[in-house]
Amino acid sequence: RESQAKKFIRQHMDPDSYPNIGSSYCNQMMRRRNMTKGRCKPVNTFVHEPLVDVQAVCFQEKVTCKDGQSDCYQSSSSMSITDCRLTNGSKYPNCAYRTSQKKRHIIVACNGNPYVPVHFDASV
Ligand code: C5P
Repeated sequence: RESQAKKFIRQHMDPDSYPNIGSSYCNQMMRRRNMTKGRCKPVNTFVHEPLVDVQAVCFQEKVTCKDGQSDCYQSSSSMSITDCRLTNGSKYPNCAYRTSQKKRHIIVACNGNPYVPVHFDASV
């Protein structure tokens, strides 16, 4: 089955699209990356930076995750991201998203050996 590290890449990595992000980006990408199967995933962030730069976040500033318990890591640089949010009226299986392009510090949880991102916690 898919590893946690591969799942993070599928759900959150898109180094090559930037800067060509159109208003239908999230509608297409959420479907293409299999986040609209069974339900519409409500919120998801794509990161438009090289994988090595996102992996390096596991060795940057340690912060508390949103769950208040586990360790997360916050990127020292702001990164180009796209925030995808399900629109209010959207009804499965028609998952409709608002696409917002941002520059933010990302917060991820890491695990394993090699120690790599396995969870996207937030952007700040
Ligand atoms: O914050 P919450 O626990 O509801 O997040 C659930 C999932 O939504 C996260 O595991 C992550 O995949 C995604 N998410 C995201 N970007 C955010 C917040 C949540 O991709 N800013």
